Amino acid sequence: MPYCPVCNTEFREGVTRCPDCEVPLVNENEEDFDVEDGDAVEIYAVHDKSEAEYIKGLLDDNDIECAIRVVESSSFPAAGGDMSESRIIVSGELVDEAIDVIRGAIEDDVISDTGWFLVAEEEEDI
Ligand SMILES: [Zn+2]
Repeated sequence: MPYCPVCNTEFREGVTRCPDCEVPLVNENEEDFDVEDGDAVEIYAVHDKSEAEYIKGLLDDNDIECAIRVVESSSFPAAGGDMSESRIIVSGELVDEAIDVIRGAIEDDVISDTGWFLVAEEEEDI
């Protein structure tokens, strides 16, 4: 059964988009990556769910299994902004690779630079 990767609602066969989140549905049997796997690492977060979905697509294209976890942050006072963040999760061994893909996408202006990395960057010290 296809389901929405953002809100996890399941839909009938034939439905291709989540009407609430406006993202393409994913097929359950394609999603074999276990987010609760102890190795899974949250690497990057954005406020824009559709952008998170886009990044997931980029990672999928690079054979990097990933998932999106949406974190609602209701503790913020209503400031008119987006109150949730979507975190990109990948398997621990693919973290470096995934970061490279995301960095490349930011440099190429494929995605905006409004997101932020959640892992320490092990590049050279300043
Ligand atoms: Zn949804």
